[in-house]
Amino acid sequence: MALLASRRSLVLSAAAAAMAFGLDGTLTVAEARHCRHRSHRHAPGRHVSDQHAPHQRTPDPAQGYDRTKVGDAEITAIYDGVWEKPHDQAYFSNATVGETKQALAAAGFTTAFVTIPIATFVVRLNGKTVLCDAGGGDQVQGFNPDSVFVSGKTLANLKAAGIDPAEVETILVSHFHPDHIFGLLGKETNAPVFPNAEIIVSAAEYKFWTDPSLTGRLPPGRQPLARRIQTVIPQWKNVLPVEGEDEVVPGIRFVSAPGHTPGHTAFHVSSGAAQLMISSDTAYVPALCAAHPTWHGAFDQDAPLAETSRRKLLDRVIADRMLICGTHFPWPGFGRIARDGTGYALDVAHV
Ligand SMILES: [Zn+2]
Repeated sequence: MALLASRRSLVLSAAAAAMAFGLDGTLTVAEARHCRHRSHRHAPGRHVSDQHAPHQRTPDPAQGYDRTKVGDAEITAIYDGVWEKPHDQAYFSNATVGETKQALAAAGFTTAFVTIPIATFVVRLNGKTVLCDAGGGDQVQGFNPDSVFVSGKTLANLKAAGIDPAEVETILVSHFHPDHIFGLLGKETNAPVFPNAEIIVSAAEYKFWTDPSLTGRLPPGRQPLARRIQTVIPQWKNVLPVEGEDEVVPGIRFVSAPGHTPGHTAFHVSSGAAQLMISSDTAYVPALCAAHPTWHGAFDQDAPLAETSRRKLLDRVIADRMLICGTHFPWPGFGRIARDGTGYALDVAHV
């Protein structure tokens, strides 16, 4: 039943999954194809594991949460899902698929696809429980033989970690891409998943996506995202846009890192001398974007600005010897950054 239910949910083609991250693309709801599979599935003698079944090759972690301490702050990484992104020439404008595979191999990853995990982070500090981004909900899910994209495990893994979603008082949003905010919205209903939490986002990000003139300026593939944001977010009374690099809750500051989106934001946690940079999508897949900061990714709305922000943020993390984590870092996402040749290397072994 669970499988059928997930198949009834929004099913995205690889192109649409790319759109979900902010690229041009056409939304393809592949219900018709899957109806055929469903009938196969029920045919006598037909095995469940037919060749069209979603075949996630990246195993879910045995435990969907992971804890570390930063001074007095308790940081819990929460596993939301994974996208096994097929290679495509458009991923980087100035790196080939061959170079991308080489970089993945150099970091010890499969070259069959780009492994893009999705994590959210809970910070408990000074008596507050703060969730950083909300994952993709159960709404960024795509299955076809080449592309597996599953999100929406944040709520279940919060509970597994002993964190009642109702105790989340504050949610910090890095940017308005689906894999970071759809976890805030009920599927089909758009009902708030965290009605009692204050949702804090940079004013630049809020203004960009809620500008009524935006939809007409976007390519068709990105318009549904803008429409959904504009239909829902301005109606919510619990959304607080903030300017600049304020301390948004005691011990956590916004760090402006524009380029990926106009208001893309990292979160700096400090407790005593201990510091953590929750880098969001500043260097989203470190094996690619940190190792090769000059590579201009199609997911970065303004790639040269994203490169500037990436270097600035990683240089700061190195200079201040702080711990770093990121939404799409290798699970569970905590590591140390060091300079490595012309780029940066993430060391996850010595946290
Ligand atoms: Zn992302």
